[in-house]
Amino acid sequence: MTIDNTCSAGKTCSICGKWYHLTEYNYGNRNNRSYCRICNKEEKAAYSKGGVVAARQYRENMRATWTNRKGNFMAEKLNKEETATLEEVVVSQSYEIAALVSLLEKKGLLTREEVIEEIKKLRRISIAGM
Ligand SMILES: [Zn+2]
Repeated sequence: MTIDNTCSAGKTCSICGKWYHLTEYNYGNRNNRSYCRICNKEEKAAYSKGGVVAARQYRENMRATWTNRKGNFMAEKLNKEETATLEEVVVSQSYEIAALVSLLEKKGLLTREEVIEEIKKLRRISIAGM
């Protein structure tokens, strides 16, 4: 009889971020997958509903629940120490917006021109409201 060393071994799922025993990553016809059985099932369900986009959305949403903590922590830290100048905030926000627009554009959800139009519209409203 041999002792199975993998008994105590496990890893973190690349989608939900939870730690599972290695056996949770052996399913289908493959072993040692990057995400757990549960996530695989959920992702497949998303895929059957909305195809590749929905499956990707599911992975991104799940990852965001645990990987974004680092980002929140940064913001929290900046607030506490009050080291974030207005300039830093503006720069960081414009990066976020640029990234968002570029992603939405890549996904074919909108064009840069539409975003600019929307900004103009909002400006007109805020000027009219003054
Ligand atoms: Zn998982």
